[in-house]
Amino acid sequence: MNVERMNKKLTKKVRVGNTFIGGDAPITVQSMTNTKTEDVKSTIEQILKLEEYGCDIIRVAVTNFESASALKIIKKNIHIPLVADIQFDYRLAIESAKNGADKIRINPGNIGDKEKVKEVVKVLKYYGIPLRIGVNSGSLQKELLAKYGAPTADALVESALREVRLLEELDFTDIVISIKSSDVLTMIKAYESVSQKVDYPLHLGVTEAGPLIKSTVKSSVGIGVLLYKGIGDTIRVSITGDPVEEVKVGIELLKSLNLKKYGINLISCPTCARCNVDLISIADKVERRLTSIKEPLNVAIMGCAVNGPGEAREADIGIAGGNKNFVLFKKGKIEKTVAESEVVDVLIDEIKKLLDEKKNIVKRQ
Ligand code: SF4
Repeated sequence: MNVERMNKKLTKKVRVGNTFIGGDAPITVQSMTNTKTEDVKSTIEQILKLEEYGCDIIRVAVTNFESASALKIIKKNIHIPLVADIQFDYRLAIESAKNGADKIRINPGNIGDKEKVKEVVKVLKYYGIPLRIGVNSGSLQKELLAKYGAPTADALVESALREVRLLEELDFTDIVISIKSSDVLTMIKAYESVSQKVDYPLHLGVTEAGPLIKSTVKSSVGIGVLLYKGIGDTIRVSITGDPVEEVKVGIELLKSLNLKKYGINLISCPTCARCNVDLISIADKVERRLTSIKEPLNVAIMGCAVNGPGEAREADIGIAGGNKNFVLFKKGKIEKTVAESEVVDVLIDEIKKLLDEKKNIVKRQ
């Protein structure tokens, strides 16, 4: 993956199963299942679907001993690191680690006293598993809420640092930190502050960010601002909806900052009165037929001759609309004119040919 991130803060590199978070590792995209974890069949199916869409790390809620035990089977049937999310019962963290979890997430506000954390750490050390301290504005410790009056950035940071210091006292440093707030500005401030204080990798996210459009905007602003400043090592876009959408938005977010090259980068215009083709439906069909492609490729779908030829020429492949037809550009050169009725099929064929050519070049090198 191409990572153009000269200003990225070099954090500690932590191994999570078959991947890494932090240091010089590429920024990973995470999601969380919304099936019942103990419903092993549905959970595995959902994780495999998320893998297909490019999810790098998956988290499941472990709410009881049945779901902790389900991790054994889930782990055997998936290919990406599995994170166990523990909220109240520290014994579930221990059980999850024993059953193959690649990382444990605990919420300091919900896990309770030091002795319990000590017990968890003992097991994590034994299995070589990292821990995410996942502070959340909705579940801050009562005394911090009383001290600060609200889940402010300082309160969230203090909660995370308390846990960090405790883990350090226990000689445990395989730590990832998240400090999520549902308020974008609080979240940005909190991550900026904690990034200045510790070198552990940061898991970025706006929590409880809402349905697709609202979450996409909030997450892109919150996560995007931080990544642009060099802060953050892994991300999760939280959406009320299908977790596949979380992965899609997360990947597009990284692509927009040039932090990941993955799949089709679609450049398409919004259309206007100059457009004499049904561009919206064409762009929609092309996008849907290209979702399984993982190789990076720039594809332009433009409505008319104003900006169309320019964008289409700059992309790897593109079409610019005319009067019920399109001009097809490949590698900056005009290839042919295609009737509107055939343009989707022709464009898809040409994209496949282009990807095959790229693969053959790589093989020959
Ligand atoms: Fe309008 Fe043409 Fe621009 Fe599309 S490319 S928005 S049709 S001027």
